[in-house]
Formats: sequence, structure tokens, C-alpha cells
Amino acid sequence: MIRSIRHGRLFAAVGLAVAAIVAMGSGQVSAAKPPGTVDLRIIGMNDLHGNLQPPAGSSGRVVLPGGGTVDAGGVAFMATHVKQLQQQVANSVVVAQGDLIGASPLASALFHDEPTIDILNDVGLSLSAAGNHEFDEGYNELLRIQRGGCHPVDGCQFHTTYEGADFPYLAANVTFKNSGLPAFLPVWLSFVQGIPVGYIGMPLEGTPEIVSAEGIKNLAFGDEVEAANRYADLLDSFGVKTIVMMMHQGDQVITGNPPDACGIIPGVGRQIAEQVSPKIDVVLAAHTHQQFNCMVTDPAGQLRPYVQGLSFGRILSVIDLKIDKRSKDVVRSQTTATNHVVTRDVPEDPDVKALVDEAVTKSAPIANRPIGTITANILRAAVASGESSLGNLIADAQLEQTQVAGAQIALMNPGGVRADLIYLSSPVGEGDGVVTYGEAFTVQPFGNVMTTLTLTGAQLETVLEQQWQPTVTRILHPSASLTYSWSQSAPAGSKVSDVRLNGTPIDPAASYRVSVKQLPRRRGDGFAELRNGTNRTGGLVDIDAFAAYLQGHPNVAPPPTNQRITVLP
Ligand SMILES: [Zn+2]
Repeated sequence: MIRSIRHGRLFAAVGLAVAAIVAMGSGQVSAAKPPGTVDLRIIGMNDLHGNLQPPAGSSGRVVLPGGGTVDAGGVAFMATHVKQLQQQVANSVVVAQGDLIGASPLASALFHDEPTIDILNDVGLSLSAAGNHEFDEGYNELLRIQRGGCHPVDGCQFHTTYEGADFPYLAANVTFKNSGLPAFLPVWLSFVQGIPVGYIGMPLEGTPEIVSAEGIKNLAFGDEVEAANRYADLLDSFGVKTIVMMMHQGDQVITGNPPDACGIIPGVGRQIAEQVSPKIDVVLAAHTHQQFNCMVTDPAGQLRPYVQGLSFGRILSVIDLKIDKRSKDVVRSQTTATNHVVTRDVPEDPDVKALVDEAVTKSAPIANRPIGTITANILRAAVASGESSLGNLIADAQLEQTQVAGAQIALMNPGGVRADLIYLSSPVGEGDGVVTYGEAFTVQPFGNVMTTLTLTGAQLETVLEQQWQPTVTRILHPSASLTYSWSQSAPAGSKVSDVRLNGTPIDPAASYRVSVKQLPRRRGDGFAELRNGTNRTGGLVDIDAFAAYLQGHPNVAPPPTNQRITVLP
């Protein structure tokens, strides 16, 4: 077995770890080892987002080759799968690529995700890259998640104490703005039969664009390739030849991509996976919540796996390495990678199940409180125009709830609608369309603060044009007050026409009050024009707006999806 790399309180200097390698490496040189290879299995998980219970609906299914589906996910099942995968081999290590916590269901979120960390300690997670969502509540809160201690405002609500993560969070590209020093451990090491294995973990460079600015104001997020190469060189110089990269970045995949197909739409994740140093033998990905299993060519012309599992604990990525005892490097031609579906046909791990049950029980009084009713399923899937029934509903709710700030239009980002509202799913009054706080929370779990700002009509049109970016199209869900058309054939930048507020054409020179969730910050997010909005007011949390709307409007019917946006040829 691998020597334990679970040391708990881990913010030690990298130098200490590297010094250990120096000592070990010099021993290896003199000992003439017999030739051969050592096996090492890497088990990776990504984007768990505190999904302790088996996720419901399409969030709890995996599409198989041929188009069928299988139910998957649930940490008690996942724990058993991890154990089984470990028992099949002599040497294994469990890693993660970030977003383990944040944007979680209520049973984890109510307790600042402490139950999820306790469970991952139980599962035997050895290390994780920090994802963007690890920074949702700021740097200091992530330090507390790492080190333990009670929440400064809410105290310890799950258990009487919180012990912290037994695994280190890695963030090789995150430094303090003032000193340039690492804000986290950039690398970690394990040993397999005396051979060092280096791990480099990091969040995406664009993290500041998608988390609250205040909590990370002292941190700089650097280029992924630059950081990976710097630490690959460092590890290599100390004799670490087997190197695994865990990055919280990935790619979109084609619709219906089965677990072990590559199927990616080439994007930033693949670029990084191809560009990072040939010293890196494996690139594990995350962030897009979609699984793929690719081999990419490194800068030296050798193949290496570029693999991502499926969000919410539905697919684990399993990389089997053969490491040459003499060179201490991976025999690339013998690397295999599979995406392993976390099916629910195995026994649940009893210890993990007990923790899940405890979290669910303690959160139930809040989760099960009815706050509204619906007449039918209200789904988040978008139609061809980009409208979605649930997205439209949320935009209408946000408009109504921000009218005190003068809002005339609400634009809801599509990634923020996280689950369907299902007519039959309520634990209260089964079958009567009751929506509980827990269900509404699952749809809007981010706790994002709404901002209402003033845009000119011309700026509003620019925002709508910015829905088409070079690598991604993201159609905002508009409130019913806004209608417009977009052309499939027109080039980006001139796709949008006939923009109207309550039926009246927008005046480019006039001012309009628009409500949005989370302003984009620097580059990347695409809706840069929103940053030029003036007279900003905010403070309303999105879930509170949604809950208040549902409370004020009993028997909500699914909003139609063919009235706000018209697609032209
Ligand atoms: Zn992410």
C-alpha cells in the first residue's frame, strides 16, 4: 500500500516535502533495483457539490453507450465503489479536482458543508484541487474548512466540533497579491513502493469572475499552464518523475457522450491538457460537470490521459499507471483510464450512510417547510431559443422582487438554475404540487446576491450580443417584460434584433433598470458590458427572492418558452 499521505493540518512549506524527496532519491540511486514496474491506481472525483444523498431526476442519472441511462450517485454508494476499486489493486490513491463543496443541497449547505468534509475524510480522500466553489465563502472560510474549528457566525451546528479536512487542498496558481507567496500548498506527494508520486492541483484562472470578490480580495489566480509547469519542474528537479495534475477546469462534451468516450468540444481544458509540461503524466479535469475520457498529446509528442468524471458523485475517474522502477516515471504506453459509474446496486457504506442520515435529519425541519405550490413540473432544460420554463419563472421572480430597486427587466444566468421543480417530488402532501424550501433551495443553491443596475438601451443590446462568445453560448433567461429575436446565421455581434420592453422597442439612448445575479468581474465571463452599468443597488439573495415569489403566487403554472425569444434563420 501507499504510505499514508493523510496528515490533516497541512499548510506546511513545500520545501519540507521536497526535502524528504531529496533524502529518498539519493537512497534510490545507490540501490540497484531489479527492473520492472509498480502499479498505481489514481481514483479521481470532481464537482461533488455536497451531494450526500443520491441526487434526483436527471442529476442522478448517467447516459450509457446506446442512450440508456442508469441511476448513479450518493456518497454512501460512492464510498463502497471507492473501497472496491481500491481492493482490486495493490496501490491506490483517491484524489479530487475540486468543487467538492459549495452550491450544495441543503443537508450539507446548512452546515457550511461540514458533513461533506467529514464524509470525504471517511471515504479516504487523500488530496483535492481547490475549485472555484471552494472559494464561495471566501479564503478564510476555506482555511477553516481545511483546518477545522467552528464557523465564526453560525458556530458548530452539525457536530459540537468540526475537525477539518484530513486531505490538503492544493492551489498551485493561487498566491497572495501583496507577497506573491503561495496561498495554499501547490503540490503534494505520495510514495508507492518508495517511488515518489507528485500531485499538482489548482482551480481555474477565471475563479475571480465567478465567486464573490470580497472573500478573495487578497488572492491572485494565475495561469494554469504556467503554474503547472513551474511545479512540474520543481518536482522533477528533486527526483519526482511521476506527476499527476488535478485541475478544476475542463471542457463541454457533445450531447449524450457515454462515460468512456472522449466527445469533448475543444476548449480551454483541452488546451491546458495539451500544453502543460511533458513531465506531467495525467491530467484530471473538472468544472464542466460532464464526463469524458480522452488521450491527448503532450508537447513531447507522447500520449497522456485527459479525463473528467461526472458531477454530484456519479462517475469516478480511474487511471491505472505502470511506473518504471528504474526511471521512476510512468510507462505511458501502459496507462489505462476508465470512467467508473457510481451505481446504486452496491451496499451503502454504513458509516457514511449514518453521517448522511444525520445531516438530512438535522436539516429536515427547514428543508420540509412548504413555501408554495405548482400545477405541473417546471423544468430547467432550455429550448432552441435559449428559454427555459424554470429559468423564465426565476427571472420573473427576480424582476418582481427587485422592483423596489426600480427593476424593469431581469436576466437570469442559465448556469444558476440547478434542478427542476417536480410536481410529485415533495415529501409534504405527496402529489399535490407542494414546493418546499428545500426544493426551492435545490433550484437556487448559490446564495448569490442580486444586483440592479442602469443600462442604456444600447448597452442592453450589447449585453444580449455578448451571449455569443467564441467558445460558449449562454442565453440569459429573460423576464417576461423583455422580448427580442436572434438570428442563427448572423455573425456574433449582430445577432440580436427587435429588442422590446413590454412590447415597446428599446430606445438606444434611454436608460433601463436591469436585475442580474453576480456581476462579472475581469475577463472571461462574457457579459463584460454589465460592468458598465450604473446606479447599482443590491443585497437581495436569490433564494430569498425565489422563495418570496413562490409564497406570494400559489399554484404557479410552468411559464411558456416560446414568447420571449424568437429564433430567426
Ligand atoms: Zn467549478
